[in-house]
Amino acid sequence: MRFRMGIKGIRKACFGTAMVASLAGMSVAGAQQAPSRDPAEPQQRAAHARGPARMMKAVARQSVDTKSMLALIDQMVACGTRLTLSSWTDPKRGAGCGRDKIAARLEEISKATGGKLQVVVDKFEATAERTSGKAVPLENVYAILPGTDEKLKNTVFLVSGHFDSRPSDVMDPNADAPGADDDASGVAVSVESARLLSKLAVSAKGGYRATILFAAVSGEEQGLLGSTHLVEWLKEKGYTVGGMLDDDIVGDDPAPGAPHRVRLFSGNGEIEDADSPSRELARAIEEIDGRDAIRMVFRVDRYGRGGDHYPFYKAGLPAVRFTEPLEDYNHQHQTPRTENGVEYGDFAKYLNPAFLGNVARDNAEALRQLALAPSGPTEVRLKGAVTPDAKLSWKADEDAERAGFEILWRETTEARWQVYDFVSAAGETVLKGVSTDNHFFAVRAVGKNGARSIATASQPEVRPAPGTNKK
Ligand SMILES: [Zn+2]
Repeated sequence: MRFRMGIKGIRKACFGTAMVASLAGMSVAGAQQAPSRDPAEPQQRAAHARGPARMMKAVARQSVDTKSMLALIDQMVACGTRLTLSSWTDPKRGAGCGRDKIAARLEEISKATGGKLQVVVDKFEATAERTSGKAVPLENVYAILPGTDEKLKNTVFLVSGHFDSRPSDVMDPNADAPGADDDASGVAVSVESARLLSKLAVSAKGGYRATILFAAVSGEEQGLLGSTHLVEWLKEKGYTVGGMLDDDIVGDDPAPGAPHRVRLFSGNGEIEDADSPSRELARAIEEIDGRDAIRMVFRVDRYGRGGDHYPFYKAGLPAVRFTEPLEDYNHQHQTPRTENGVEYGDFAKYLNPAFLGNVARDNAEALRQLALAPSGPTEVRLKGAVTPDAKLSWKADEDAERAGFEILWRETTEARWQVYDFVSAAGETVLKGVSTDNHFFAVRAVGKNGARSIATASQPEVRPAPGTNKK
């Protein structure tokens, strides 16, 4: 820890020189006599209790079938356009052609894994500015891998890409819109995650505790219509959203020095001193996949732009967006053409298969571990203002597969949580001598299998929690 090292350094200097000690504003003896309980200061007591070690990764990079991902992208590009306002009935050209290719691939995967995967085509209507204010037909494709835990199967973790595409004019259903990167690449990640995880579910005893849903939605370019509908669809089906992983423009890595980390965007939420569930989902994914795979960006999306995670985020649900490190704007939202020697168009030839495969692995591994974890604690409250101690309380359902909870804390200026303590039961815990003013706190559940839930940030008691029912 950076700050710890720094203070140790100062202390070493103090022992040697009385003058340095007085300059540092403390007496050497004083520093030795008063052991600090502040987790940001040097610790002079036994290490805290630790829970089970983190679960090992199981999705090997070599197991990602990049060839099949590219084959699906090529099939989708061959539909000419997949604009939401194009044909849903022509099998050769239009949005319906794209839907057919995705559904066929998912059925193929389902068959290969003994029918564990349930493929659903969800038809609905939506009206928006980019449908000229008229109700238009849309369809989403889902593959559902039902959870095996009686309670947790009502929680769903989902990965989504959008299969609609667009030319330069977002209202033109006739122009070519190959949409290889935006966003056949995200659809391919979703579909490949379905293959990887249903295959692993067959080999691992018991499958996943929570339900995993692999989505390919339409209407993104017309105003996030498919994703907005999906939020409602999940609610109607009685699911609680455990986490939503949106993959949009994840197929290329054109900057020099590749391979780079995929960017992972998460919104801050609206409470100053408690991060949103989306931010906690981003941290959980980075911890699962590693800092060498994930580049967290603490921003809801790319500057001034939007995507399918947004309707989930606005509903207070944990939702994040994966996007390639550097976008090439000549290769997205462009009608294919050559102008002044510059080629425009979102073609598959610009994709980077190695990078695309990495993103599939990162999504699949994150979904796997989250779907194997206990559900996160609820009603995490921080008390102890105007006292020397922080008091944390939380609730959790009964769960025989849970080992306990990790109490997480961080300096207010730090991006990531650190584990402060491990306790086996829900309730209240007093962090003696730990200031409520100087730190942020969260609690997460730890399974006996080592899988961690998303952290639940502590909230001051006086404020209602967004997305929860304040009683
Ligand atoms: Zn997109």
